[in-house]
Amino acid sequence: MMEMQKFDVAIIGGGVAGLTAAVLAARAGKKTIVIEKQERLGGRAMTNKKDGTYFNLGGHALYKGDAYDTFREFGLTLKGGKPSIDAHGIWQGELSVLPTGIGSLLASPLFTWKGKLEFVGWLAKFPKLDTHAYDAISLRDWIEGNIQDPMVRHVFYSLLRTASYVMAPDLQAAGPILRQLANALKGVLYLDEGWGAMMDELEEKARQYGVQFRTKLKAAAVEHQDGVVKGVSFEDGTRIEADHVIIAAAPAVACKLVPHADGTSLGVWKEQAIEVTAACLDVALRKLTKPKQQFVYGIDRPVFLTNQSRASKLSDNGAQVVCVIKYQGAETDPEKDLRELESTLDLVQPGWRSELASKQFLPKITVCHDFLHVRGRVNPGPDVPEIKGLYVAGDWASHGELLVDAATASARRAVEHLLASEVKERNFGHGYRVTV
Ligand SMILES: Cc1cc2nc3c(=O)[nH]c(=O)nc-3n(C[C@H](O)[C@H](O)[C@H](O)COP(=O)(O)OP(=O)(O)OC[C@H]3O[C@@H](n4cnc5c(N)ncnc54)[C@H](O)[C@@H]3O)c2cc1C
Repeated sequence: MMEMQKFDVAIIGGGVAGLTAAVLAARAGKKTIVIEKQERLGGRAMTNKKDGTYFNLGGHALYKGDAYDTFREFGLTLKGGKPSIDAHGIWQGELSVLPTGIGSLLASPLFTWKGKLEFVGWLAKFPKLDTHAYDAISLRDWIEGNIQDPMVRHVFYSLLRTASYVMAPDLQAAGPILRQLANALKGVLYLDEGWGAMMDELEEKARQYGVQFRTKLKAAAVEHQDGVVKGVSFEDGTRIEADHVIIAAAPAVACKLVPHADGTSLGVWKEQAIEVTAACLDVALRKLTKPKQQFVYGIDRPVFLTNQSRASKLSDNGAQVVCVIKYQGAETDPEKDLRELESTLDLVQPGWRSELASKQFLPKITVCHDFLHVRGRVNPGPDVPEIKGLYVAGDWASHGELLVDAATASARRAVEHLLASEVKERNFGHGYRVTV
């Protein structure tokens, strides 16, 4: 019976952040439950199987960042491959090779010689760049202040947009996104059978540590009294008691769940959050019509295309899964976005419609609920200082990480904080840091 159950840690949300927090809390000996409103766990990292093809919710690449390190440390296998970075760019309606190596440096018609040298110079400099020096300046200020050649600037806007999905160079903090690009240059991972396979492994790991799960159960409120968390109540009328609650869902959800949240830090974090969305068209093609054109940056169009099957197994029947993404600003128009996605495919894989085996179109999906911006943003979490025992995690609770790396890093911060608070209480207020 749910009514009388008591947990050390209750986690609302079974996406990457929730499952990561669950593994860490249970591994530290805490009686832990994850509550997920959907039928399946995984959140935005789930994969849908359709006509023998594994479709992520839009193209997903695992960078060599916090999530990769965390999951490796958990012992997840993360089967997949590293895609080649041989790339094309779309400029004025035409495809051109981008200079990513010696051969393409000679072949690329896009840059002048001076531009080519500046571009490869930057690619070489990236791994050693002190990106933290640029945490407080905007991406536009960094690009305009550091890159001379106008076409190299255009390409950098495109590369950095692709690595973060953000279309706001005047607002976006340069440091975190430059770090993400440096991680991308180390090589990303495309996962066999999609990110859903990684989430299955993560769930399995959590179960091994004794985590309990309740799916198809929507949290209705986080109960707190006199500034202390008491438990969680659900839409079906049941409730649980918990010493600690981690909300691993969107900031707006967190505010809705917590009575009087507007007067707490949750209200500030919700107000400052800027949501990032994208339109995604994923197609399974029986074969590519232009096999050399598999990885394409839109330079003067806010689009990106990648054949994820070039490095991972995403179908049972040999179909090639090509993901096309349209980065969205504040205004979105699903029909216009679909036309733009299809016309990108027309340019890169002409005749693709005759090879179409299956497809998935997501007109507007939240890629992340917030990003690091230079408009006086405060880092959310790990704890909600006004309510003892309440924590947040998720891709929006970033302290400098991006996307899924923010989800795992914030989950770790939340669990470390709650463990440290217990140690502190036991030791009458001495400051301890606990690493999980
Ligand atoms: C198109 C697209 C492409 C992306 N590409 C990349 C990429 O290449 N690399 C990368 O690093 N990241 C990428 N991301 C981002 C990555 O998918 C997310 O950062 C990550 O999955 C977010 O995990 P999360 O746990 O923070 O949130 P979510 O996955 O949103 O999890 C929150 C969970 O909370 C549940 N929930 C909400 N309310 C309640 C409630 N009241 N009760 C119970 N449960 C509730 C939700 O159902 C959900 O399962 C991409 C995302 C998208 C959409």
